[in-house]
Amino acid sequence: MATLYIVATPIGNLNDFSQRAIDTLKNVDHIGCEDTRTSSVLLQHFQIDKPTFSFHQHNEHQKVDYLMDLLNQNQTVALISDAGMPGISDPGFLAVRSAYQNGHDVCPIPGPSAVTAAIAASGLPSDRFLFEGFLPQKKGRQTKIKEIADSDITTIIYESPYRVVKLLNTLAEFCEGTRWVCVARELTKKFEEIDRGQLSDIVERWNSKDSIKGEFVVIIAGKTYED
Ligand code: SAM
Repeated sequence: MATLYIVATPIGNLNDFSQRAIDTLKNVDHIGCEDTRTSSVLLQHFQIDKPTFSFHQHNEHQKVDYLMDLLNQNQTVALISDAGMPGISDPGFLAVRSAYQNGHDVCPIPGPSAVTAAIAASGLPSDRFLFEGFLPQKKGRQTKIKEIADSDITTIIYESPYRVVKLLNTLAEFCEGTRWVCVARELTKKFEEIDRGQLSDIVERWNSKDSIKGEFVVIIAGKTYED
């Protein structure tokens, strides 16, 4: 029986990399990376010199067998994604499930994740929330947004800079302008921005921006929430 470590990496600020995460990566036999080239920068910075292999959404099904072979040979393996917690809108679930199915241990090394950073800083109700991750891009998108508009609990969405303003405008079609929303951009980075307010004001602000860059989390309070 071997152990699969699921290791969180920084979402922008290298100082968020925990000592336990660094120690774990220095001690495992192999590191599965969402993108070996992206992770090599992080690994080199922290002087972590271990064999890596790629484990991303397009080869996850094939690579899970390779990963299980390593664990079955009693080798320890850590899984990291480009940023944040593996398995959160990133590869990880298949590997973890397979590790259990093969009788191995799974050990999380928690740390940065955009979803927890954003909800914690949003000032919107966080006792219960629904994490939607990325919404479907085409089919089902409108229906999902209508569902969110109708929801009584806080919803968290990951969105790309190319679609975030469109998302806010579509939300405005289905929600009251008084609905509370938080747009969190570039969390933990130099140009971090947390814009909290009522939907009509938020839409106006983001519609008037010239260029939209960076990584985004959008949080929508439940429809009965009043500030
Ligand atoms: N596994 C990651 C985690 O734990 O947050 C999420 C990976 S997902 C592929 C990438 C998305 O997460 C981005 O498109 C963005 O929506 C969100 N994200 C990641 N880093 C962020 C940051 N620094 N600020 C805001 N959102 C971020």
